Amino acid sequence: MNVRSQVSMVFHLDKCIGCHTCSVACKNIWTDRKGAEYMWWNNVETKPGTGFPTAWEDQEKYKGGWEKKNGSIELKSQNKGDALFKIFHNPNQPTMDDYYEPWTYDYQNLFNAPEGADQPTARPISMVTGEYINVESGPNWDDDLGGSPVYAKNDPNLDGLTEFQKQQLFATERLVFFYFPRICNHCLNPCCVAACPSGALYKRGEDGIVLIDQQRCRGWRACVSACPYKKTFYNWNTGKSEKCILCFPRLETGQAPACFHSCVGRIRYLGNVLYDASRLEEVANLPDDQLVEGHRSLVLDPCDPAVIAAAKANGLHDSVIESAQKSPVYKFVKTWKLALPPHVEYRTFPMLFYVPPMSPVMATKDGDVLNHESGDLFHDIEQSRVPMAYLAKLFGAGQESFVRYALRKQKAVRWYRRALTVGDVTMETAQRMLAEADCSAEEAEAIYQLTSLCTFEDRFVIPPMHREEAIAMMEDPMEHKASAGFGFVQGPQRGL
Ligand code: SF4
Ligand code: SF4
Repeated sequence: MNVRSQVSMVFHLDKCIGCHTCSVACKNIWTDRKGAEYMWWNNVETKPGTGFPTAWEDQEKYKGGWEKKNGSIELKSQNKGDALFKIFHNPNQPTMDDYYEPWTYDYQNLFNAPEGADQPTARPISMVTGEYINVESGPNWDDDLGGSPVYAKNDPNLDGLTEFQKQQLFATERLVFFYFPRICNHCLNPCCVAACPSGALYKRGEDGIVLIDQQRCRGWRACVSACPYKKTFYNWNTGKSEKCILCFPRLETGQAPACFHSCVGRIRYLGNVLYDASRLEEVANLPDDQLVEGHRSLVLDPCDPAVIAAAKANGLHDSVIESAQKSPVYKFVKTWKLALPPHVEYRTFPMLFYVPPMSPVMATKDGDVLNHESGDLFHDIEQSRVPMAYLAKLFGAGQESFVRYALRKQKAVRWYRRALTVGDVTMETAQRMLAEADCSAEEAEAIYQLTSLCTFEDRFVIPPMHREEAIAMMEDPMEHKASAGFGFVQGPQRGL
């Protein structure tokens, strides 16, 4: 057992209101610069939808992530065979059309236009060329367009849904969408690190934050191509690549990242988890249908004496272990099994997990009593407006059982609280639902507390970073190009 600490995250999608405050907070701090205009280290997508950059989940086009080949895993592109060639020409690289041409407005015209019959307007101007442009796309271009034939229907996650399911999803009376905020997942097995020809990307030893060394980066953009989530970006002004740094200067001073701190819906949770780095390669080689469980099994019980002993042997401070014991992420991912990794089939092991969203309730009201449309208390999850198959593509590598489990538990908690506070559901029904959803009344209460009544201190349990004695955890990235379970020394050493 090789125990490491990783700062990790949960986004509770049932709480996101799509306000984009997180994106704006991040933009104001980190990407309000020349060459970074088009970058959104945090963006909020509407699902079903094509996202940013357009159709980033289409790995036939972008060839991001890992794939199983000849009994082990390889980068889909940027592997040892084609990395050199792709330095000169990379057909899988997203282009400006896949993002959008950043623009501002000719605001001065509002003040300086000569007197005339019409109101002056502020026309859009390209921030790249300085010329007037017709705006044709933007970072949240398909915002709220669930069901639109131009955007939502091109969502790669719809592949594999039956025609009937698609028809249902887009039937006018059932139209539905939900928000999907995204940042870099600070993965355990990051393709961006493995793909870089210059060894510029690295995973910080003490907390697992993935960063790009701006001195070493040569702007080859292999990371842009290799990241299946498209969360590294090329700065055309500096000639270097950049990405979300998880606001490490804020974390090091005990503050939550800006997008977490500003989140209006309070959907974001952050805490460290302990994981077993020695099993990364083994788990990355599992077949798709075992990946969710495999990924979950990497996260260790921080109260287990054997884990604590191994963590201490690796130089983890008591304070870091104690922080992991209080982590809200551990509760959502391991204890309650409510939060799932996005597209785990890319095999990067994202450390940002999502609680899948509930669809609108389908029930009838008779006087003061709410009636289900059938005797099966969970029927509206099975016939949910967002088909289970769709959510399973996003959060379960195609396995519906994990999403079903999370949705049933969420619904049971809601009904339990209804029985307690509103009274239009009997406690007997609520107890039956809890039992069927594998949830006790105590667990339901704890989920309710952390979901609905959570304070800053509940949501953000920030481990002490101990930068004064950072753990040297990485092998030289140059020596481990394109290899999985990237870069861990056997005996961790301390020292900057
Ligand atoms: S999401 Fe994962 S692969 Fe992509 S940039 Fe972040 S750490 Fe790298
Ligand atoms: S600030 Fe929070 S609620 Fe608003 S869009 Fe971002 S993640 Fe969603």
